[in-house]
Amino acid sequence: TGTWRMDVRVAPLRHGRVLVLAEDRTEARRLEEMRRDFTANVSHELKTPVGALSLLAETIAEAADEPDTVRHFAEQMHKESGRLGALVQELIELSRLQRPDALVDPELIDVDDVVAEAVDRVKVEASARKVTLVRGGTSGLNVYGDSALLTTAVRNLLDNAVRYSRPSARVSVGVSCHDALVRIAVVDQGTGIAPEQRGRVFERFYRGDEARSRETGGSGLGLSIVKHIVNDHGGRVELWSTSGKGSTFTIVLPQAYPPDAPQEGAPQEA
Ligand code: ADP
Repeated sequence: TGTWRMDVRVAPLRHGRVLVLAEDRTEARRLEEMRRDFTANVSHELKTPVGALSLLAETIAEAADEPDTVRHFAEQMHKESGRLGALVQELIELSRLQRPDALVDPELIDVDDVVAEAVDRVKVEASARKVTLVRGGTSGLNVYGDSALLTTAVRNLLDNAVRYSRPSARVSVGVSCHDALVRIAVVDQGTGIAPEQRGRVFERFYRGDEARSRETGGSGLGLSIVKHIVNDHGGRVELWSTSGKGSTFTIVLPQAYPPDAPQEGAPQEA
């Protein structure tokens, strides 16, 4: 769909002949549009919390002699600045991923360490929301890649699972392996994702209607970062969800083997 654009240059040659140079501009234009959309989205996302902060500061200044009002609005300011900080952090992660050298030095990674670190980082948020975090047993599995990036990917999935859960719900994360593919599955019992939204949740800045209205405090960048990281590692993200019952996001990565370990299916020495 869409229009197709060519840049055509014509140079006259001798004997009445012409040289026609045609360059396909469709891709260049698509990239330019993406960049423009991205800037517009970022500006919009930054404008909202900055506007709120300025309004709150003004209100506090006017209510300086009412301690309760001041406390209330100061708490709101704290929340808004947290949102702003999280958005800026996500933008930094996204731009780091777009560098061509994002994955120059892949290392052999213990998947259990990545999961443990990611769980550690969402513990506080989970207990604040009274969500129980459950981690499966150790798997002893390895992948090649960047452990900081993979930790970010698993943490983003856990963070969503916690934010889209009800109090007293469970969020679990487990690691398994099938056909030399390592699977890190994050399972929640939260709101679920409607079928028509499932194809869009990995887009940058996409947020579900419910996510917006429930004010779950996100920017719509979390899953696009997950997808980016996992693609860079030669893997994919799978999504299973039932509206109202919960979702399972699974990161699937090629299994790696320590240099001295026998590989699955490889002939064993007698
Ligand atoms: P956000 O900052 O809005 O959470 P994400 O990119 O992480 O941005 O997710 C995009 C959208 O996908 C969310 O706004 C929400 O509608 C939906 N979503 C993501 N994870 C879950 C989940 N575990 N349960 C329900 N909905 C989810």
